[in-house]
Amino acid sequence: MTGALYLHVPFCARKCAYCDFASWATPAGDALMGTYARALEAQLDEVAALGLLQGCETAYVGGGTPTLLGEKDLAQLVGKVVSITAPSELTCEANPDSLADEVLLAVREAGATRLSIGVQSLDDGELAELGRLHDAACARERVSAAVASGLDVSVDLMCATPGQTGESWLRSLGGVLALGVGHVSVYPLQIEEGTALDRRFSNDPCTWNDPEVQAERMSKAQVVLEGRGYARYEVASYARAGKECRHNKAYWTGLSYVGLGTGASSMLDLEGYLRLSKACPRLPTAPADVRRVRLTVETPRRELAEAPRLSALSFSLEFLTEPQAVAEDLMLGARLVDGLRPELVRRARELFGARLDDTVDVLLARGLLGEKNGRLAPTEQGWLLGNELYGALWDLAPGEVATASC
Ligand code: SF4
Repeated sequence: MTGALYLHVPFCARKCAYCDFASWATPAGDALMGTYARALEAQLDEVAALGLLQGCETAYVGGGTPTLLGEKDLAQLVGKVVSITAPSELTCEANPDSLADEVLLAVREAGATRLSIGVQSLDDGELAELGRLHDAACARERVSAAVASGLDVSVDLMCATPGQTGESWLRSLGGVLALGVGHVSVYPLQIEEGTALDRRFSNDPCTWNDPEVQAERMSKAQVVLEGRGYARYEVASYARAGKECRHNKAYWTGLSYVGLGTGASSMLDLEGYLRLSKACPRLPTAPADVRRVRLTVETPRRELAEAPRLSALSFSLEFLTEPQAVAEDLMLGARLVDGLRPELVRRARELFGARLDDTVDVLLARGLLGEKNGRLAPTEQGWLLGNELYGALWDLAPGEVATASC
């Protein structure tokens, strides 16, 4: 019934300068973290009892910084996920500064198969600008230990950041590849409103973050990574053969997923939503023509830890009709190298008629979409101008998405 499970751990040792995720600076050893982890375990039991985790193939413990929980609490949480869903892929997000040997071994023993480590850069000056807690030596050492542990390892790197040059970007890329990781994700820095970085550079043109700089760095990354045998399978994701992240692919191919924890989102079909409603009587009745419901947990972390029942959670909700869900799937599918699934395009044609063909013609003419192995697929230019490509596909969705909160 559900393809994937996501658990959100909203604790970090310190807030990074660019971060607007649901995460809060939390002192090491704060008892709240353990209580919160137990609350997630209780919610896992509840959603499993509702049948919402049947067919769940992948799980992701993300954040925040899950490794901040420490070996005991994190291993217990991972073990709970394994006992309930036995996923074939279980990723744990980690930061180098809290990925102690004990944590690494404990999550592996508990059943994690994969680590996604937030490295961002291997330049000490750049890391300091970003407000990261680790330095390059710590990142190198901890990623090496993770690779040596036998877990699949992915590393996140960030480009177009303050102080970064073309040369330092190449050094960071080469540096993480030398550590033998199987997967690399590369992202341009987004300066989000209200973050420390935004405040610091409010009167600065931030030329280091220009779209041209972002495009040039992403293109360089492609050349380096593909040249070293990492295949690009999504706009920001590169993997050695067999090392793609199946969990993230679930998000991009429209599979249902359950998200637990403060700030976590679920995407359910109507049947899944009705099941969840049995445990959460406050959830509103879905409008008649709804096919897909997206729910985000709005309950703050302390309240969630103290009152873990699903019935106590508050949510914000989006209700999508079938045309809106199909437009969303087209948009997400355009992130993938393999492009749009033929059955998805067929359904879109039935729903949108000539509007689909008109949109596709414009995107083909602008070079944002192309044809690859008989499928419509994004081009390099399409990814570089991603907002235009995704926006044009989403614009096929008729009407406004209905929203609610409870
Ligand atoms: S570690 Fe990640 S989630 Fe935590 S503050 Fe930094 S960017 Fe945000």
